[in-house]
Amino acid sequence: MKNRIVNFSAGPAALPPFVLQQAQQDIINFKHSGMGIMEISHRSQDFIALGDEIRQNMRQILAIPKNYTILFLQGGASSQFFMIPMNLLKKGETATYLNTGVWSGKAIQEARRIGDISIGFSGEKENFSRVPQQKEFNIEDKAKYLYYTSNNTIFGTQYHYTPQAKVPLVCDMSSDIFSRPVDIEKYGIIFAGAQKNIGTAGVTVVIIREDLLEEAPKELPTMLQYRVHAKKDSLFNTPPTFSIYIMGEVLKWIKNQGGISTIEQKNQDKAALLYQTIDTSDGYYRGHAKKDSRSLMNVSFTLPSPALEQTFLQQAQAAGLSGLKGHRLLGGCRASIYNAFPKEGVQKLVEFMQQFQQENPA
Ligand code: PMP
Repeated sequence: MKNRIVNFSAGPAALPPFVLQQAQQDIINFKHSGMGIMEISHRSQDFIALGDEIRQNMRQILAIPKNYTILFLQGGASSQFFMIPMNLLKKGETATYLNTGVWSGKAIQEARRIGDISIGFSGEKENFSRVPQQKEFNIEDKAKYLYYTSNNTIFGTQYHYTPQAKVPLVCDMSSDIFSRPVDIEKYGIIFAGAQKNIGTAGVTVVIIREDLLEEAPKELPTMLQYRVHAKKDSLFNTPPTFSIYIMGEVLKWIKNQGGISTIEQKNQDKAALLYQTIDTSDGYYRGHAKKDSRSLMNVSFTLPSPALEQTFLQQAQAAGLSGLKGHRLLGGCRASIYNAFPKEGVQKLVEFMQQFQQENPA
């Protein structure tokens, strides 16, 4: 593919060329129907078959057991911040949240509108530079669930273990879903916006244990009830058909790559290259995350001064390395290297970083 630069965007993020090329064809004529994928009815046989195929592929890739339902919803991952407590918490009931950054903070804010929320851990004082170890957090005895964010997109931290709890886990996997195997049975709900690891903006995947579908109070607005979307196979209203289609193509690509263990290995190799460069730079590049919490998806780092960071970003952009500016809340630089991000892109960045350091001493 010509004229493509190296895209380190945090999301929406780079997609596999395989997916873009297939989409190019299917936008015009999907499955020889004479209509493009964006033009067909969500009630058509072709679209219903597509939904079934995607769920089947998800089940296969992540080993999702039968007693979990897969939903395709709208409103972004952010809408799950309120849908989860609205469905799972009745008045006076409690849930425990682990606060490891902006996204868990937002989830806590929304959940507090609905129930009593206890904070099992907060990384705020350490500027969210790490996630807690198991022994560091407390789960309220009466908690209905334990909520956490598996990968903190802004701060570049990630859990490298599954928290243990007697209550169901609820996890925001927006920035690392399908990047590694997951022990689904430990979870009550897993959710993720698709726009980082499995597609484009517009669809949010919710993987929910079936018994939890019935928890929602019946007076909840219909669109907010998981049970309604489950009963209707996510076709209660018009779903984001194109985003769902793209997700399906990304899943095929994941399968073609060799499945989730191959994807995980590739992600580990990419991140190792980058962290190694940071660690051997004599402190020129500094990673934000503490070593045991380093994210394989988002690598947040700083340079010796804001002025050098600005020059770095400008020169990187000129060299075809785009999207490296850190989130405005943290500053510095951030390389987002999700599933579809190619190893060659990381190699280019690493070479650029080494050369920049030589040419621009601190
Ligand atoms: N959770 C995490 C971990 C995220 O990174 C983001 C978006 N960057 C969100 C939630 C919010 O997602 P959305 O924009 O789809 O609402």
